[in-house]
Amino acid sequence: MKILFYGAAQTVTGSQHLLEVNGKRILLDCGFFQGRRQEAYERNLNFPFEPTSLDAVILSHAHIDHSGNLPNLVKQGYEKQIYATRATAHLANIMLMDSGHIQEYDAQYVNKRRARRGEAPIEPLYTMDDAANVAASINPKPYQEKFEVAPGVLAHFEDAGHILGSAAVVLDIEEKTGYSTRKLRLWFSGDIGRRGLPLLRDPVLPSQADYLIMECTYGDKPHSDPQEAYNELKDVVVRTLKRRGKIIIPAFAVGRTQDLVYNLHVMIENGEIPNLPVYVDSPLAVNATDIYRAHPECFDDETHQFIRQNKHHTALGFEHLVYTRSVEESKAINQRDDPMVIISASGMAETGRILHHLKNNIEDPRNTILIVSWQAPHTLGRRLADREKEVRIFGETYQRRAEVATIGGFSAHAGQNMLVEYAQATQETLKETFLVHGEQKAAHALQERLKQVGIQPVYFPAYKSEVEI
Ligand SMILES: [Zn+2]
Repeated sequence: MKILFYGAAQTVTGSQHLLEVNGKRILLDCGFFQGRRQEAYERNLNFPFEPTSLDAVILSHAHIDHSGNLPNLVKQGYEKQIYATRATAHLANIMLMDSGHIQEYDAQYVNKRRARRGEAPIEPLYTMDDAANVAASINPKPYQEKFEVAPGVLAHFEDAGHILGSAAVVLDIEEKTGYSTRKLRLWFSGDIGRRGLPLLRDPVLPSQADYLIMECTYGDKPHSDPQEAYNELKDVVVRTLKRRGKIIIPAFAVGRTQDLVYNLHVMIENGEIPNLPVYVDSPLAVNATDIYRAHPECFDDETHQFIRQNKHHTALGFEHLVYTRSVEESKAINQRDDPMVIISASGMAETGRILHHLKNNIEDPRNTILIVSWQAPHTLGRRLADREKEVRIFGETYQRRAEVATIGGFSAHAGQNMLVEYAQATQETLKETFLVHGEQKAAHALQERLKQVGIQPVYFPAYKSEVEI
């Protein structure tokens, strides 16, 4: 059989891996390639394979870099099954719709410029309607239940502990060539989470795998303990409250926002911080939180116990927590001058309502801007994390007088040690490992560490490369 690496190959975006076995073609993930506008448009529009030639698609999780090109695949004629866990199917629905909205908006923006130059308009890659069609057709499967995706190919999902619904895709394959049959297990890690993250169960380690396709985003870095991130968050809240300031947090709407809300909830219940107002101001985050609430089957024991002990209906709601959807509600937050936490998107402060909150609060030294995730170069989030004294928001210059705090320990990705442990868990049967979803520096460092513990060969396949296994 063959594996063709069509995305997240020597980079961290656009996850797509194609398997050819028993005359069938199975696509693992159908991620959106994120990058410079023109390059991303071309790459996402032109699949390196014929969409109608596929026999099945299996999604590891709902993040856009793993699911975001599905509407385009379907638009170009793919009509067969798309499998995912139940929570991923649910979450992909709102994430793809949101992505469709962004595509439409983006095309409008580009077309205005093209019109000025007398050029023909471009089509959005896909629309909200295209996204809605796909989301409705995903075939949801419970974790650990085996299902046939092609003759001789049984699949099931195992917990990945990364975001709600995230999974490793395990394929038990009986490959038929001529008169002979061989059995093998291929384990695709998806994105691997961490132990001890809020809400979610820990990742399940692979077993009995012959071949491993493993992510390596942080292959060169150890991570600090999630408990440390919890303590740092608590310190930021306490410190800012002493100044009677506000805490403004740009956060990704899905995953990070729910982690923060849960941690703040636990702190309030434990009496570690007062019961202060917390606003979650992002329509996508509000919708995502509803979906988190609808899937308690994905929560870990600790979360269930917390809900039981405190007699809460949910881990993601408390007395002074307000989820705002409408623009009016969002604007009303600015009328208040008392201490509060505002969590809003986008996570890198490039677009969205967070810009209004930053603009209104950045010049007050009582306030804190809290950065809780990696910020890409050239984004406003990065400039804030770098503690620049002056920043531009909506075309105007603002003096940054608010404190900037950064917390690194909230990452939803496994660090180097966990990745080594992941591969080691199946070392006895492991024949070959393929590292994906990582930059070269991370992959090389991890290859080196794996070699030290006796795991090899470990490949780092290039974009569009293929291997026979
Ligand atoms: Zn992910």
